[in-house]
Amino acid sequence: MRPWSNEELEMLRDTARRFYAEQVTPHEKRWDAQQHVDRALWNRAGEIGLLCASIPDEYGGAGGDFRHEAVLYEEQAYANNASFGIQVHSGICAHYFANYGTAEQKQRYLPKMATGELVCAIAMTEPGTGSDLQAVKTRAERRGDHYLINGAKTFITNGHHADLILLVAKTDVAQGAKGISLIIIETKDLSGFTRGRLLEKIGQHGQDTAELFFDNVQVPVNNLLGGHEGQGFVQLMRQLPQERLIIGVSAVAFIEKAVELTTQYVKERHAFGKPLFDLQNTRFTLAECKTEAHIARVFIDDCIARHVRGELDNSTASMAKWWCTQKQCEIIDRCLQLFGGYGYMAEYPIAKMYADARVQKIYGGANELMKELIARGM
Ligand SMILES: Cc1cc2nc3c(=O)[nH]c(=O)nc-3n(C[C@H](O)[C@H](O)[C@H](O)COP(=O)(O)OP(=O)(O)OC[C@H]3O[C@@H](n4cnc5c(N)ncnc54)[C@H](O)[C@@H]3O)c2cc1C
Repeated sequence: MRPWSNEELEMLRDTARRFYAEQVTPHEKRWDAQQHVDRALWNRAGEIGLLCASIPDEYGGAGGDFRHEAVLYEEQAYANNASFGIQVHSGICAHYFANYGTAEQKQRYLPKMATGELVCAIAMTEPGTGSDLQAVKTRAERRGDHYLINGAKTFITNGHHADLILLVAKTDVAQGAKGISLIIIETKDLSGFTRGRLLEKIGQHGQDTAELFFDNVQVPVNNLLGGHEGQGFVQLMRQLPQERLIIGVSAVAFIEKAVELTTQYVKERHAFGKPLFDLQNTRFTLAECKTEAHIARVFIDDCIARHVRGELDNSTASMAKWWCTQKQCEIIDRCLQLFGGYGYMAEYPIAKMYADARVQKIYGGANELMKELIARGM
């Protein structure tokens, strides 16, 4: 049991494990082919209380804290699943509403996000800019009682299913970062809003990742998150550490799963008259991987505990993101090698893990940016 866990969290873990085993794993192949999970999965997750786990119950959430989210994301990794966009929906988007939304915005959106009636995405990245968030070109011009929105976003997780989008847009182009605001987009029957194709990726095939287009879209001024223009960049900077921690939590659980799967495999597979595990190279490789998995576990558990106490600083969250995802890619690569040719076969879980892992070093802030952030505080 984790140092930060307790009986209630372990019960949630059991529920999550069952949910992934029964509702997710059996459908993965089909979802990979269609490039998105079934919409009904969101409602099922909502029914059993897995959505918005760390949102107060007065807004329909489960009233937990980050540990509850961590349990869900760990179990998702142990199930070797990367298609269900719960991390973006619950771990990221819901917290923008909870932390910055007006009373009316919280009441209007959070309860429906908790039931799965609304699926949420956050749209920062554009075809021309990702890391350099200040350079976004999407405009939200105030015209009387509404905003007129024009622009394009890409690589948006949950973009295909999203009923709700937190859109990063410039409300004042002259102000740079201070001209950025978050606009709430309700996509249903919204004139001028279109979704582009589902993007084909080298991994995470069942995760819907889409382009979004805004062509003279009009939304009421009440859809400005928090009600004050120019707050978007600060809101993003405050939430990004949690996003980075989420990526680290998932990376460590994937590392643990990869080491476990590989250890099982090399004990069963024989070469030169003995199990692969009896070869010194295999034992040493796995001993090294297990050691690094353990170091990663101790580090991430400490980050989780700090975050729950409100003490996780930006720099440490950046360390968790870059180092754990770097180790995820390295360790899964070393594990895959021990599977030989089978490791390269798509039907083997380790092959899926390898392809799914790569993007972890890119999204949520490229790992190079994480190092810049750490260095900035030195
Ligand atoms: C599967 C997937 C899901 C995603 N989901 C979302 C989502 O839900 N919402 C969303 O808004 N975005 C999402 N993204 C976008 C993601 O956050 C961006 O791809 C990422 O931030 C990098 O931006 P970019 O692709 O424009 O790369 P660029 O900004 O062009 O950077 C390219 C590379 O240059 C290097 N680099 C950039 N800046 C620096 C620097 N300052 N110092 C050193 N090196 C640097 C890094 O190696 C970086 O990888 C997703 C992307 C993918 C692939």
